[in-house]
Parts: sequence; structure tokens; C-alpha cells
Amino acid sequence: MSAPDYVIAGQGIAGSVFALSAIERGLTVQVVDPEFPSPCSRVAAGLMNPLSGPRLALGENEEALWFTARAFYRRWEETLGVSFFKERPILRLFTDPAQASAWTKRLRDPRYDPWHEPLPEEWERRAPFGGFTTKRCGRLDPVAFLDATRAWLQGRGAYRRGSIDAEDGAAIVWCIGHFARGHGPFQEIPLRPARGSILTLRAPGFREERILHAGKWLLPLGQGVFRAGSSYEWDPADSLPSRRAREEIAAFASQWIGPDWTLLQEEAAIRPMARQGRPILGPHPRDPRQILFNGLGSRGAMLAPWHAGRLLDHLAEGTAPTGELDLARFFG
Ligand SMILES: Cc1cc2nc3c(=O)[nH]c(=O)nc-3n(C[C@H](O)[C@H](O)[C@H](O)COP(=O)(O)OP(=O)(O)OC[C@H]3O[C@@H](n4cnc5c(N)ncnc54)[C@H](O)[C@@H]3O)c2cc1C
Repeated sequence: MSAPDYVIAGQGIAGSVFALSAIERGLTVQVVDPEFPSPCSRVAAGLMNPLSGPRLALGENEEALWFTARAFYRRWEETLGVSFFKERPILRLFTDPAQASAWTKRLRDPRYDPWHEPLPEEWERRAPFGGFTTKRCGRLDPVAFLDATRAWLQGRGAYRRGSIDAEDGAAIVWCIGHFARGHGPFQEIPLRPARGSILTLRAPGFREERILHAGKWLLPLGQGVFRAGSSYEWDPADSLPSRRAREEIAAFASQWIGPDWTLLQEEAAIRPMARQGRPILGPHPRDPRQILFNGLGSRGAMLAPWHAGRLLDHLAEGTAPTGELDLARFFG
């Protein structure tokens, strides 16, 4: 069998989105993953929220990120015959008066107009500092997406379980998230690990179908089951759920749901965080056949499609990404 255009190390959100984007451009891929238990992409909630940070600031590129991601997941839902993406409003409740007043200032900027509308009346009453409904947002079901992608790649002979060894001249795209700190040619990249936890709860008395965000979030899964998250613990010793995170998330859940819920599951994983939340991508300055796609941080679902496209543009043109995304700055 002839060598693929790209061997892709890792089948998380980064590797899957890069693989499908490459295939859309007529390229061939072989995806390889050791299938480590609970990688970040399989624990993630998959929220796609342009106004997710505490400052409620819209990034300069948010429109391109959102529309590219939405179109990408919709196209692949059709091809894979599986549903994993849904546009869903997010009720954003301010955490304090300072956040409410910061938002009032943001509203002077017309760029924000298409991204929000008022809270529904019942939440206007419940939210002590007010809030808004975020538009142009939604959720990727990461497990459904990754499972469907893996099965489809397997069917084409383009996936295998394992790790990378000698790959007969193929270019390797490293999409291995936080594992890059201990493996492969990109160990010099300053990724900072941040452990995140999520609780799955049963709260049959809490009837809300919209996603709630008030610093932390509640994601309704239906039939009285919710996911609640998430926490940030920097430079953790392992990827196991911690008591501190459980208590933090439980307190948040009780604040909005009340005391009547039971814990069904507790999960944790490590996010690959890069400086300013921007992905790091491009060919290795000393060996251009080793290519990096990493640093998706806490927003992999929304960031991956647009950035995979930009990386493929650069590779097609034979150029390295520039500016913020130029990874040559990490190699002396
Ligand atoms: C608690 C929590 C909540 C989150 N919520 C959201 C959210 O709501 N929305 C959102 O967009 N993002 C969220 N994220 C972030 C999101 O999970 C990440 O942005 C994304 O999963 C990163 O994907 P990745 O493919 O880079 O890394 P990973 O998911 O870590 O995938 C790396 C893959 O590489 C494989 N691998 C490791 N070593 C090798 C090797 N040597 N060769 C081949 N393969 C290898 C691993 O098995 C793994 O499958 C959340 C994360 C956490 C922890």
C-alpha cells in the first residue's frame, strides 16, 4: 500500500478534525492512536461558546471560528450518518455586578449585536445580576463525533490502534494534546496542563433544556440528567478527579438546581493549554515533515475546524504559519 499524505498521531478532536479536513481536500491519511483511557476530547462537554470567558469578550476571529465549525460538523454529520452537533442557546448569568457592568460597556460595540438576545423572563427573575442569552453557539457531542469518525476511518483502512514508529517517508501530524510534553518531536512547546473535572448528575426536579453558564455551566442531557463543570487545576500530578474540583462543581450545581440531585459519574482529563488560548501549529523548523496541531486548550470543538483549514493551507503552500501561530519562536 502506498504511503498516505499524512500520518496523524492522535484521534482526539484535533486529529479527527485534521484528518477529515485533509480528506475533504483529496488527501490521504492514516490515523494512529494508542486509545489511552479518557483523553481530554472524550471527557469534554463540547460546548461551543464564543463568549465563554469571564470577561465576556468576543475574540477578533470568532465569526470565522463559529461559522467554519458549524458548517464542518453539519457536513460530516451528513457523510457519517450520525448526529453529533446541535445549535443550542446558552443562558449566560452574570456572576457579580462588575461582570454585568463590563457587559453593558461591551454593548456599545456593534460587533456584539448578532451574538446575544435578552434572557427568558423566568431567568431574568432568577439571575441576581442579570444576564443574556448567547446566540450562535451550541454543542458538539465529542464521543459521538469521535466514535463515528473512528468507525468511518476504520472502514476505509485509514485508522489503526497503536503509536507511531517508522512511517516510510510520510509526513506526521502530531495531534496528541498534553501527551506532547513527554513524547514526539515537539516536547519544547510550552504547553501548560490544566486538569478539568465534570460531574454527571441526576436532578429530576430541575426542568431546563437550555445550557446554563454562570462561571461554571450545566448541560442538560435529557431525562433529568445533567453534566456540570468544569474546574481548572494547573500543573496537576495526574489526571484523576480531585476532591477540590468535586466540591467546587457540586456547590455550583446546588446553587442553581437546589439540593435534590445525585451524583452519577465523575470524570477528569488534562487540557493542552497554550499561551493566550491560541492553538500552536505548523511544521517543525528543523524537520518540516514533523507537523504540530495542538494547544486547543478549553475550546477544541470550536477552534479545530478553522485552524485545521489554516494549517492545510500553509502545508499546501509550503509555508509555515506566521505571527502568533508561528512555532519557530519555540526553537532556538
Ligand atoms: C473537563 C473538560 C471540559 C472541557 N469542555 C470543553 C467544552 O465544553 N468545549 C470544548 O470545545 N472543549 C472542551 N474541553 C477541551 C477539549 O477537550 C480540548 O480542547 C480538546 O479535547 C483537545 O483535543 P486534542 O485532540 O488536542 O487532545 P486529546 O483529546 O488529549 O487527544 C490526544 C490523543 O492523542 C493520543 N495519543 C497520545 N500519545 C500518542 C502517540 N504517541 N501516538 C498517537 N496518539 C497518541 C491520545 O490517545 C488521544 O486520543 C474540555 C476539557 C476538559 C478536560
